[in-house]
Order: sequence, then C-alpha cells, then structure tokens
Amino acid sequence: MKIVVLPGDGIGPETMAVTVDALHAADRRFGLGLQLDHDIAGHESLQRHGATVTPALLEKVRAADGLMLGPMATYDFKDEAKGEINPSKFFRKALDLYANIRPARTYPGIPARLGEFDLVVVRENTEGFYADRNIESGPSEMLITPDLVISLRRITRLCCERIARSAFELAMTRKKHVTIVHKANVLKLGDGMFIDMCHQVGKEFPDVRIDEVIVDAMMAHVVRAPDRYDVIVTTNMFGDILSDLTAELSGSLGLGGSLNAGREHAMGQAAHGSAPDIAGQNIANPASLILSAAMLLNWYGQRKGKQAFMEASAAMEKTLADTIQARECTVDVGGKLGTREAGAAFVKRLEAAAN
Ligand code: NAD
Repeated sequence: MKIVVLPGDGIGPETMAVTVDALHAADRRFGLGLQLDHDIAGHESLQRHGATVTPALLEKVRAADGLMLGPMATYDFKDEAKGEINPSKFFRKALDLYANIRPARTYPGIPARLGEFDLVVVRENTEGFYADRNIESGPSEMLITPDLVISLRRITRLCCERIARSAFELAMTRKKHVTIVHKANVLKLGDGMFIDMCHQVGKEFPDVRIDEVIVDAMMAHVVRAPDRYDVIVTTNMFGDILSDLTAELSGSLGLGGSLNAGREHAMGQAAHGSAPDIAGQNIANPASLILSAAMLLNWYGQRKGKQAFMEASAAMEKTLADTIQARECTVDVGGKLGTREAGAAFVKRLEAAAN
C-alpha cells in the first residue's frame, strides 16, 4: 500500500512524525508492505512552491492507495489566486471524498463525565455551506456591497443519497441505529431533501432504526446522553461542528480520528486543526492522527479484501486504548507524556503485543 504523507501546519509535523512511527510499527508486525511517500502541503509548500498544494502533488496522491493529511492552517489561506488553497478542500473535492467518518468513544482511563458512549458522525464532505467547494468556479460567498455578504449553501440529491448510504452501511456493522441531524425547520428545502433521501435509502436497510433530531437540540441531547447515539448522519457544516463536540466529550479533541472516503480514494486526517496555541511544544495528542491512520488501513483492507490491514487497524485502535488506560498519554487526556513519548509508548506496546 502506497501512502502519501503530508505533515501539514502547526502541530502537524509533530503528530505526523509519531503517526509515521506507528504505521512503520504496524507494518513490521503485520507485514503490510507499506510504502510511505513523504511530501509537503500547507505553509511549507506555499513557501517552496508558491502554493499550499500543487497539481503534481494531486497526481501523486491519485496514483497512491491512500493519503495521510496533517492538520492545516486553513484560516491563514485567504486567496486562492496567491496559491493559498485549503488543502482539505482540495483533496476532498478533487478526489471526491464525500464521506467524512468521525468516530468518538469513551476510553477506560479517561473519566467518562457523561457516561460511556461509542458513536460515529458521518458528515457529508463535498458541498453544504462550504464556500470553497460548492460552485463550479470561484467561492460561493459574495461581497455584494461593502456591507452585504451572501453565502450560498448547496445541497444535491446525489450527495444526500451517497452520504446516507455510507451511514446506513456503517450502521449495519454497528448497533443498527441512524440519527439524522438537520435544520429542516428553517432550511426546509435543502434539509428537507436531505431527510427525504436518508429515509429513502433507509428503506433498503429495514433492520436499521432511524430517528431525527434538529441540530441545535442535538447539541443538548448529545451532551445529556451521548450513549443514545450510534451513527449520526448530517450535512457538512453541522457535521464539522458536532464532531468536534463529540470528540471533546470523549475526552479531548486530540482523540478525534477521521477518515475522508470516496469510491476510489481515502484520506486519513485528524478532526481538529493545526492548534497553533500548542504547536512546537511536544504536547499535542497524536491519538487523532494515529486513529485516522488506522482507519485508512482498514478502508484499504476492506476494499482489497486484505485481512492483515484490517487486523493492523484493529490492533492500532486497541493499542491506543491500552496506552490511555495505562496513562501513557498526553496531558489533554490526563497523562504526563509529551507527543513523542506517547508515540514511543504506543510503538512499544504495538510491538510487544506481537510477542
Ligand atoms: P484547532 O482544532 O486547531 O484547536 C482547537 C483547540 O483544540 C485548541 O485549544 C487546541 O490546542 C486543541 N487541540 C487541537 N488538536 C489537539 C491535539 N491533537 N492535542 C491536544 N489539543 C488539541 O482549532 P483552531 O485553533 O480554531 O484552528 C487552528 C487552525 O486550524 C485554523 O487555521 C483553522 O482554520 C484550522 N483547521 C484546520 C482543520 C483541518 O485541517 N482539518 C480543521 C479545523 C481547523
């Protein structure tokens, strides 16, 4: 499996270095034959190549079997004409990575303030309110007069249908429960269509229980009783916000692993951003990126029918849980280790489990 590795900005280089070590350890134990191809995106690429991402990089990623993308300083990238392209958008759009899968669960070793839970947010990734990806050319946010901005939101039947299908297929492997999160009380047409398509797809999965929650109330419900939820399917912006909340409820945003998947390609990418407030201090939690890497291996294993990749993925997830339980983790989840030391503890446990 050939994986392009792009460390990204802020805490990206620190957490990606640890994740690469974790992938090498999984490769040694499970004989995966990984080939990691290191390249750059974000600020470093902007300085060296005049753009945060380049067409040559896209071609390299297209030819590979997967991509690991570090967190990006997206807020800094304001003008695409100056090469300041949002790399997340770039890959999600160009590779049609329409399903953003963001699991959140509690771990033994981290006090579960709201009780134990295990859920997954399935977020549409290619349209919605995202001004940098929902019209063919240019941004969909317009300065009409100096005092008037219009931001457009795009919802298509196709994107609703395919994200719903991802959610129901995932639910069939879990507790067979899908919650549709929406704002159809106000966005009657767009979210109305989203709900309709979810129910339409849901008819093909009669064993899956379906319910609906309005997104603002969902913020209260998920804090009140996160264990009520299994798979939560929602549109792009709501999913982005909700999944940061669920990651933090699980103990830390630094536990927020995520996979961006399409039919042909997939990208592992932590749910959080570049965290400039803690960058360069060796305190960022690498768990989110390690989990994202594990999800990428699992995606590839499922696609190719390669058991070793699925086993490696499961072993990485278990090892992560074991390190947390043993308090071999970073400060955000109650440990005392730095990023590098938490990574080394992870590798040691993953290797020891093989003996
Ligand atoms: P953020 O997600 O980077 O950080 C939010 C908070 O969570 C901060 O306090 C940070 O220290 C903490 N945090 C994040 N990751 C952590 C980790 N692994 N371990 C421990 N703590 C962690 O959000 P922000 O500060 O609003 O955004 C910073 C930059 O990241 C902005 O430029 C934003 O646009 C960008 N961003 C990028 C992505 C992405 O690349 N997918 C996602 C969200 C934000």
